Amino acid sequence: MKNIVCLGGGYGNMRFIQRIAPKLPSGYTITLVDVNPFHGMKTEYYALAAGTKSETKVRMDFPDDKNVKVLFDTITGIDLEKKAVTLERETIHYDMLVIGLGCEDKYHGVPGAAEHTYSIQSLRQSRATYEKIGDLEPGSKVGIIGAGLSGIEIASELREAREDLKIRLFDRGDRILPMYPERLSAYVKRWFDDNDVEVIPNSNIVEVAADTVYNNDASHALDMSIWTAGVQPVEVVRNLPVEFGSGGRVVLNQYHQIPGFEDAYVVGDSAALKHAPSAQVAEGQAEQIAEIIEAVVKDKPLPKEMPDIKMQGILGSLGSKEGFAYLRERTVTGRIARMLKSGVLWMYKLGV
Ligand SMILES: Cc1cc2nc3c(=O)[nH]c(=O)nc-3n(C[C@H](O)[C@H](O)[C@H](O)COP(=O)(O)OP(=O)(O)OC[C@H]3O[C@@H](n4cnc5c(N)ncnc54)[C@H](O)[C@@H]3O)c2cc1C
Repeated sequence: MKNIVCLGGGYGNMRFIQRIAPKLPSGYTITLVDVNPFHGMKTEYYALAAGTKSETKVRMDFPDDKNVKVLFDTITGIDLEKKAVTLERETIHYDMLVIGLGCEDKYHGVPGAAEHTYSIQSLRQSRATYEKIGDLEPGSKVGIIGAGLSGIEIASELREAREDLKIRLFDRGDRILPMYPERLSAYVKRWFDDNDVEVIPNSNIVEVAADTVYNNDASHALDMSIWTAGVQPVEVVRNLPVEFGSGGRVVLNQYHQIPGFEDAYVVGDSAALKHAPSAQVAEGQAEQIAEIIEAVVKDKPLPKEMPDIKMQGILGSLGSKEGFAYLRERTVTGRIARMLKSGVLWMYKLGV
């Protein structure tokens, strides 16, 4: 029996398995390995951390398919030469490998950031963030470092969850989400102004202590800081003997294979792709990998040129009632954008 091993049951590998499982000829099996006993919907972790959604709402069961074996274990190493993956409890071998281990916080060498900030990058970390938020005394000060999509979402969700907190959002740019139209930035900024979240533009966090964040020349006393200021592939991927591109992501050939190790594919946040990492890109790429692996196992020729991964745009929430979107070069704000986001999540759950 040939074994296709999928490392990580995130957005990328869930879509990959969904597409490839019904098409595999006999003689092939899939082994999925994840540290968690379910698929975590990372795009919703901000709500878990803020306490507006319970954990059961941000996770789903892994596929129940006779051809898919699921192992719950921590992956500690990948040997591309020996085609072996070391887990905490055993070592497994693969014929084909799809690495979809996602990413973790990157602290850019800021002293104290790793030790003194909370995270929403994994289920375990989001749970810890939730607990800390729940323990904060009324009127406590919370700093959110980084005003990208995840920073905006946790800041607004937290405002909705705890009206008593003083929330500061440290933004590196001079306007929120500078890569999108000014109208979108202005809308998000207005929401924060109206809802008493202080946005601090042109921030450059130089140090984090247990109760203080140092921003440029100023210091801010805080009871809790949440880091949303950068990500990188997880350590197991960073340890691979391969070429890394922008953001420390693995450089791949057009078939999403690791050059020199064509039985190994990388999907999602760990892959160096033309688009910024997102669940949307991970799923588009996973569909292409499923197509390629289907051709390989059926001994068919690979497409001469792979098409671009299609992107729809971004969707973000501002609490449970408002949101923003940039879809097909159009800005959408307010309730409609929020409904679109809820609709996408609903469709996703239905699809899985
Ligand atoms: C708050 C927030 C909001 C976001 N909102 C959006 C959004 O609206 N739209 C969008 O497109 N993207 C969004 N993203 C980004 C999106 O979540 C990621 O791009 C996406 O999850 C990447 O998918 P992936 O398959 O690469 O990895 P992931 O979905 O992160 O899955 C990785 C899996 O690997 C497992 N794993 C990792 N290391 C190990 C190990 N050593 N051993 C065993 N298992 C391991 C993890 O448990 C996890 O299940 C958001 C991210 C955050 C944090």
